[in-house]
Amino acid sequence: MDEKDTKMADDMHMENGGGGDDSYEKICYACRRSESKAGPMINMPGGMCLCHDCMQKAFDTVLKNGVDFSKIQNMPFLNMNLSDISQLNIPQTEIPQKQRIRKKTPKEQPSFHIKDIPAPHRIKASLDQYVIGQEQAKKVISVAVYNHYKRVFAQESRQAGEDSDDVVIEKSNILMIGPTGSGKTYLVKTLAQLLDVPLAIADATSLTEAGYIGDDIESVVSKLLAAADNDVERAEHGIIFIDEIDKIAKKKDMNSRDVSGESVQQELLKLLEGSLVEVPVGTNQKNALSPTATVNTDQILFICGGAFPDLERIVKERLNKTSSIGYRAELKDRYDGDPDILSHVTNADLRAFGMIPEFLGRLPIQVTLQKLTEPMLVRILKEPKNAILKQYIKLLALDEVKLVFEDEALEWIAAEALKRETGARALRAIMEEFMLDIMFEVPKDPGIGTVVITRNYLEKCGGPRIEMRG
Ligand code: ADP
Repeated sequence: MDEKDTKMADDMHMENGGGGDDSYEKICYACRRSESKAGPMINMPGGMCLCHDCMQKAFDTVLKNGVDFSKIQNMPFLNMNLSDISQLNIPQTEIPQKQRIRKKTPKEQPSFHIKDIPAPHRIKASLDQYVIGQEQAKKVISVAVYNHYKRVFAQESRQAGEDSDDVVIEKSNILMIGPTGSGKTYLVKTLAQLLDVPLAIADATSLTEAGYIGDDIESVVSKLLAAADNDVERAEHGIIFIDEIDKIAKKKDMNSRDVSGESVQQELLKLLEGSLVEVPVGTNQKNALSPTATVNTDQILFICGGAFPDLERIVKERLNKTSSIGYRAELKDRYDGDPDILSHVTNADLRAFGMIPEFLGRLPIQVTLQKLTEPMLVRILKEPKNAILKQYIKLLALDEVKLVFEDEALEWIAAEALKRETGARALRAIMEEFMLDIMFEVPKDPGIGTVVITRNYLEKCGGPRIEMRG
């Protein structure tokens, strides 16, 4: 081979599955298995790779039937030498970026160090900067997450032979119960950002038992792998949040098979517990053309969240029943007005709701989030690091206009949001409604220096107070 040929062979080799990046696995052009599964690849011209099995199959076929490669479409170069190929302008086969699998680095040391994991009080302090209220939930989650990553560290130390202790820390997946818009998703997103781990958010309503229309259970792991840039090792330390988990409660009075309820709970068991799953890379659906990767879910933290709308009634009924027995009988209605009734939830209540015991057993940490109150909503408007108010103030500051909200105006917005019963989610919608005119009109007049949003303006009894420059 002359110098030109060598360079070209190198180029092809680099392009195959790696796009010039050696940290990606090669994928067999024929069976789509990756290098970690199918073994070393044989580099072919045109940027293709074949695994030994497929190459062997090709030879077997040739020996049996005799094939003239030059007559096979798209593969006329197979019986040419490299210098011939360089004369041709053959488009290089590229594996799409999103279907590439990052190579696993051999583990000599645990990838986590205990010192890298922030202590619970530090996790909570960071969460406090974003999530308002929900003190107990933040505390429980900070401890659970800290313990989870300590478990990961302990396991990796054992694998690396640095720890021979017999004590095995069990997995601590979390079940989050709280009304819609109370900050469940927001809490998890903030957590993943703080810890710098990949996060996948899936909706339990879209999941169905394998073989039925809908997403397979494994698609949640596929999403996490995508969030981790197809880096299997990073994905294995990530977080999967499954929202609307209450929607997969066992359906009552079902005559047909419950493919999106109890069966989904059943199928989730093995994921929650920790198992090896083979997931398609770069797509949600398994098919013959997409490469697959094997992900171990043992070290993935699963957080399931839901509003469990009827659960309050179940808890209240149980509590009222117990309190109406014996000498405490006079306290019969004691829990009727309790805004924090969900904090008394037990596994028995969740079972009555329709969750199966095995499923609950795999979510040992249970946290409840409170319904947001008016003062909390006011704080959400102005206090978090990226509060909605701060965002609007910044937008107008870019026009050199000062934006001020009167306290009474904020209280009005919070009260209005409460009426909509979608928690903090309503705040942005209300703000958008009123800020639209301001954002449209203010840039028209360069003389405007300050805009004060008053309660009267929100109640449509007047305009905002405008103060001119100078
Ligand atoms: P859900 O509980 O239904 O998952 P989300 O977490 O999606 O609700 O909340 C919707 C939005 O409301 C979030 O993006 C966030 O901006 C805001 N939010 C909700 N709860 C809080 C909270 N406790 N503190 C700060 N912001 C919150």
